[in-house]
Amino acid sequence: MVRLRQYSSVRNLVRTEVIAGTLVLAHADLDRSGGACLTLAHMEIADDCLFCKIISRTVPSVMVYEDDEVVAFRDIAPVAPVHVLIVPRRHIVDAGTLEREDQSVLIAMFLASKSIAYEEGIGANGYRLTFNVGEDAGNSVAHLHLHLLGGRFLAWPPG
Ligand code: AMP
Repeated sequence: MVRLRQYSSVRNLVRTEVIAGTLVLAHADLDRSGGACLTLAHMEIADDCLFCKIISRTVPSVMVYEDDEVVAFRDIAPVAPVHVLIVPRRHIVDAGTLEREDQSVLIAMFLASKSIAYEEGIGANGYRLTFNVGEDAGNSVAHLHLHLLGGRFLAWPPG
């Protein structure tokens, strides 16, 4: 089945389709002569991944931010007044599997976190950014995500 989504909040990103496990992104642009042109990009997604399903809108969530590389949505079980998960559109397992070629995704995640923190009103008072990796850290979803936590004093060290 092909799912179509319209994007109005992401500049130039006009439509996505999931085709055979691949997320296809369509960007509308103007070419040099001022004519309209459509650019297609694609990203691998994992069929059995909860966050890939949230990204493709198969599973509902409360989205607070999206751009070409990342999306961010509210955590379903928040542990602070602001608890947002910042997630790359491309399926990456966790911070322990990152490679040098993933650097643009990481930059996009950190820039998104900064902008969301100010949107959520916690930019000035402070907030915490956390990647959980593996069992001892309590990692439960195998799709890279950055927790943005704030809106209350956060004790250190964490439990
Ligand atoms: P981690 O334990 O670091 O893997 O974080 C996974 C986070 O995903 C947890 O804080 C969960 O509460 C959150 N989570 C699980 N399912 C959903 C969902 N459907 N929508 C939003 N957040 C979710």
